[in-house]
Amino acid sequence: MTKLVIKNIGQILSGKLEEPILDGDCLVAVDGKIIQWGYEKDIDCETATTVVDAHGVILAPGLIDSHIHPVVGDYTPRQQQLHWIDSTLHGGVTTLISAGEVHMPGRPKDIVGLKAMAIASQRWYENFRPSGVKVHAGAPVIEHGMVEEDFKDLADAGVKLLGEVGLGTVKDGKTAQQMVNWARKYGMQSTIHTGGPSIPGSGLIDADMVIETGTDVIGHINGGHSALPDDQIICLCESCKSAFEIVHNGNERSAVLALNTARELDKLDQVILGTDGPAGSGVQPLGILRMVAMLSAFGNVPAEKAFCFANGNTARQRELDTGLIEVGKCADFVLMDQAQHAPGKNLLESVQFGNLPRCNAFHFQLNRL
Ligand SMILES: [Zn+2]
Repeated sequence: MTKLVIKNIGQILSGKLEEPILDGDCLVAVDGKIIQWGYEKDIDCETATTVVDAHGVILAPGLIDSHIHPVVGDYTPRQQQLHWIDSTLHGGVTTLISAGEVHMPGRPKDIVGLKAMAIASQRWYENFRPSGVKVHAGAPVIEHGMVEEDFKDLADAGVKLLGEVGLGTVKDGKTAQQMVNWARKYGMQSTIHTGGPSIPGSGLIDADMVIETGTDVIGHINGGHSALPDDQIICLCESCKSAFEIVHNGNERSAVLALNTARELDKLDQVILGTDGPAGSGVQPLGILRMVAMLSAFGNVPAEKAFCFANGNTARQRELDTGLIEVGKCADFVLMDQAQHAPGKNLLESVQFGNLPRCNAFHFQLNRL
């Protein structure tokens, strides 16, 4: 048995919008799962196998990037960059979710080829966690000609995600909806490219197509890169029960519009964050922290709630076993403190002023290769 005790925590952020700050200065995890938190004086810390002294900083569930485009290991050919996932970990992110391995040079678009690549991608990230980061990948982009059996085959082989609808040849809502429904039937989650085109082969996806397709996540509701007109973003927020994903690679003004609209509709629990990197606009190792600070500052959201967009909300929308301080959830954490010389009386206020924290993210169980 391994027992992790984190002591001298300044504040515990829960990841839960309904109760973003928890009482306590100590947290215990056994065998990689949270079992208890509260005040050290009330907790049995005796048999700890690892003790971490937080020195009074904030502890939060590790951040989740809902929208990345990995290819293989910790390398991306899009920017010729090594160790971008390692850098992302240093931006507080412990879990990454693929929206499609679309930057693979020569990506197969025939059906047997795309299925093979999705299965292989799922495997190579399950078998190898770069710097300990959990990468949920193997997200095929749907193409014309796929039939229900293909989705069953993918699901049976362990594929749990669809890549962004619209990056392949399927560009009409009717076909996309049928394929998304097949994917859902076999337990696969779906997302869609929203807004103007990005990579070669992608096209405009407007609000009508997003609504007709009915994916679980509205991928980059603020565009990636170009956003839809304001009235269409408002329409999506009003019409949809799916997750509203706001990304770093999109339009920041539209991001604030989506946030404000979600708040007016009492739908803040649907707001989740991604970077959409690596992409043409680069890799953003601190992208999720930058989104939290940007939305907190320009969207007037208390920082402790803005952090929920980056962990608890995503965990709930994506049905993950991490991202929340809850009994049984994974011991994936980020320790954060106010950056040196950042204005504000504490970390949360400094984030609300638009500043980034300094941070240190970790998984308690890094031993799986
Ligand atoms: Zn996209």
